[in-house]
Amino acid sequence: MTADAATEAVADDPRGSEWHGDSAERVFERVDSSTAGLSGEEAAARLDAHGPNEIRQSESISLVEIFLAQFRDVLVYILVLAALLSLGVGLLPGAEANYTDAALILLILLANGVFGFVQDYRAEKSIEALRELSSPVATVLRDGEKVTVDSTAVVPGDVVFLEGGDAVPADARVVEAAGLKTDESALTGESAAVEKSAEPLDADAPLAERSNMVYMNTSAVEGQATAVVVATGMDTEVGGIATQMEAAEEQETSFQAEVDHLGTRIGYGVVGLIALVAAVQLLLTAASPLSVLLVGVTLAVAAVPEGLPAVVTLTLALGSRRMVEKNALVRRLPVVESLGAVDTIVTDKTGTLTENRMTVVRAAAAGETYDVTGTGTETDGEFRQGERTADAVPLEPMLRCGAVCNNAERAPDSQDVDYYGDPTEVALLVSAAKAGVDAAHRRVRVIPFTSERRRMTVLAAGEGGDGEEGVRNAVRDGATGADGGGVTAYMKGAPEQVLDHCDRVLDGGEAVELTDERRAAILESNRAFAGDALRVLGFAARAVTDPDAPDEEIERGMVFLGLQGMLDPPREGVPEAVADCREAGIRVVMATGDNVETAKAIGREVGFDPEGALTGREVASSSEAELREAVEETEVFARVEPEHKVRVLSALQSNGHNVAMTGDGVNDAPALRNADVGISMGIRGTDVAQQASDMVLRDDNFATIRDAIAEGRGIFDNIRKFVNYLLSANAGEVLVVFVGVLLGTVLFPEVFAERPEALVLTPVMLLWINLVTDGFPALALGADPKAEGIMDEPPRPTDEPVLDGRLMASIGSIGLVMTVTGLALFFFGLQSTGSLVRAQTLLFAFLVVVEVVRIQVIRARYDLSLASNPWLVGAIALTLLLQLVVLYTPLNDLFGVEALPLDAWGLVGAAFVAFLALNLLSSRLLDRAFAARE
Ligand code: ADP
Ligand code: MG
Repeated sequence: MTADAATEAVADDPRGSEWHGDSAERVFERVDSSTAGLSGEEAAARLDAHGPNEIRQSESISLVEIFLAQFRDVLVYILVLAALLSLGVGLLPGAEANYTDAALILLILLANGVFGFVQDYRAEKSIEALRELSSPVATVLRDGEKVTVDSTAVVPGDVVFLEGGDAVPADARVVEAAGLKTDESALTGESAAVEKSAEPLDADAPLAERSNMVYMNTSAVEGQATAVVVATGMDTEVGGIATQMEAAEEQETSFQAEVDHLGTRIGYGVVGLIALVAAVQLLLTAASPLSVLLVGVTLAVAAVPEGLPAVVTLTLALGSRRMVEKNALVRRLPVVESLGAVDTIVTDKTGTLTENRMTVVRAAAAGETYDVTGTGTETDGEFRQGERTADAVPLEPMLRCGAVCNNAERAPDSQDVDYYGDPTEVALLVSAAKAGVDAAHRRVRVIPFTSERRRMTVLAAGEGGDGEEGVRNAVRDGATGADGGGVTAYMKGAPEQVLDHCDRVLDGGEAVELTDERRAAILESNRAFAGDALRVLGFAARAVTDPDAPDEEIERGMVFLGLQGMLDPPREGVPEAVADCREAGIRVVMATGDNVETAKAIGREVGFDPEGALTGREVASSSEAELREAVEETEVFARVEPEHKVRVLSALQSNGHNVAMTGDGVNDAPALRNADVGISMGIRGTDVAQQASDMVLRDDNFATIRDAIAEGRGIFDNIRKFVNYLLSANAGEVLVVFVGVLLGTVLFPEVFAERPEALVLTPVMLLWINLVTDGFPALALGADPKAEGIMDEPPRPTDEPVLDGRLMASIGSIGLVMTVTGLALFFFGLQSTGSLVRAQTLLFAFLVVVEVVRIQVIRARYDLSLASNPWLVGAIALTLLLQLVVLYTPLNDLFGVEALPLDAWGLVGAAFVAFLALNLLSSRLLDRAFAARE
């Protein structure tokens, strides 16, 4: 059958069409596939026919919509109305029509809209790109080989492999299950995990009882299964209800909320002031009511920071893009700002602080200790005792146990990796291969590993090979001759755990009683291994009579086989990263499932204080008050289970800390969700952990957390620079006009009280200043690099607002200085030349120059040179150029300004120097005043 025919076959059967009622064979037939999966070609054809496997988001917003949204603002409406009105009045008989003003106002508004549009559009794009980056992958059979593909490329007929921690990529019928349990709460609301099997069911079984089906948007909690995909994308069960679900949640960050709120408050303040200006103008000056209205509305447009929220979003989005380049993938935008305030990191060890490239370097069995040579996954090492090569025979039962009780696999030769699977388990396959151990077996049953159990058991039937015989003979329960058809239970796990389930130990090929001395000796070697920073696993086995007995029955009375210790070297750069975080006032704490001794030894290597290390059990048994005290001191937590992590986290949070916590397993999801910044692992992490997290480390590396925090701090700074810049500029503009009108009527009544065009700045000038300053320079600020010493400072308090007292004082003082110097220039110009236009032009030129230069004044506080942001240099140059164009081309007529002669620039320069001096003075005074308050 071709892809089209397959489409029809599937299309014939609407959603939920009783896939569960058919046998697995029939299901394969219906989707035109087989246990061998699809060919790459066929899969591509089906992808074309069915479309990508995704729940289509509500239509993304169109460009036009984003553009129009820029003008959906009452102030803009009023301004347009006023402009048109002035045009209309101009058309009255006897009046002089002023087309240019109205046209210019509309044009400038349009340009403003374009800037807003560019910002919104870029923010939207960045967010979309992030969403795509974080889309999950699936393991499917293509051309007979297991490959990893983007979940969106999964098609009906694909054979998919699922295991604990995976997200289910599409709706699929289970054809083989080994203890698979899934969490279907997202679909059915049922929170308990559901066990899956391949058995056909009654055709009328309801969705929640279809135990041989797995569904998109649910996840595998434990176990494994193979399933064949029957529906993808919008054809899935969740696709069917997608329309009822809310579209991609758009959370507003607290910055965004704060800034929005700020905007509104400023808006009210400005409207009050403007009413005052208008009243003064109407009562005391000769300005016409219409021009008063126009000035008022223009001031409102100029002074209300309507662009601020968009800029905040853009800055966050740009920042998150920089983070992706450093391997930190932000899944939720608000986290960018929380990152900057993190003061405690709780990190796991294996894979984050260490490489997670495990190699067995030591082994112990029957009272003897061995060194294992060979690096990485090379299998040509050997077992040694002292200087001589040792006979590995006594180790063989243990090595076979490690290879059988194992989910890792050798990769086919065509792949660029040697093995698939958990590095701990890969190391065990490699050590077994070094001794040439026969690991042939048939798996009967698995009792899976969880971080709570810290052990795993596999029931295997021998293939009759020597290895199997050897182990069975060694571990056969002397009491029973009969057995379960040659089934052996193999257990591996944390040595204490494994020992707890043993009553005998293998010694000289015989199972002998596990006496207290023998137990103590084993624990002693365990400690010795762990003290050398090795991760230690214990192994045990026994012959099983009833393979279907309950788990507890199987996992008891075992024969202890030995220990293997594996080396996992610290990652390069981690000790430096830990030191950098400390320097930056961030505490770093390790929480690992590994042994205390191993944890301490690795901790020591990467710079943790291992004194007073606590174990998970101690965490569980201490009271809340004790724990709150302990978490302030302890830097190493060992043998912790996910629930202990949650306790440590909540103790830290009740102490007022802002905590970033890492996690990789299914059971880490609660901790990841509760943490202020939940961080999951891109390589090692399960889909479930990734979906619960705020940020994914694409390289699993601790150093990436440090880099992300540095970026987060930089972004916070950028937003502050921005708010400072925009608000002080706005404050300056409003104050200049307000105070200017008041002073003007007092100082120059012959101008202000008699001439209708008498304004300090015309609406067109105000709009222009607002455009050029809010435009390019402000955009470029969003791309500002972070300050050099950003990680030398302690983190900012979580509750510290963007606009703190110091910033508000600075905005006020800058507005004031701008007003004083600007108006001095204006009135001096008016006085000396008697020309209103000259005075206006001077002020107009001065304000643009001041605002452009002020960006660098603000940046200098963060020790940033102008050269560090080429965008900004360009933006400033462009702004100044545009300003010259307005002044010196025929455009100056439209703007109602004149070409300033050179000596007039001398005046502007003098005012400018005065501005800088006063600004410096006031900022020194404020610094001192605020330092004194602390
Ligand atoms: P971590 O990742 O912090 O080292 P885990 O929870 O993964 O901690 O592991 C805890 C302990 O469980 C390990 O020290 C080891 O003894 C044991 N263990 C780890 N992986 C496996 C496995 N695949 N099978 C059996 N036991 C394991
Ligand atoms: Mg682990």
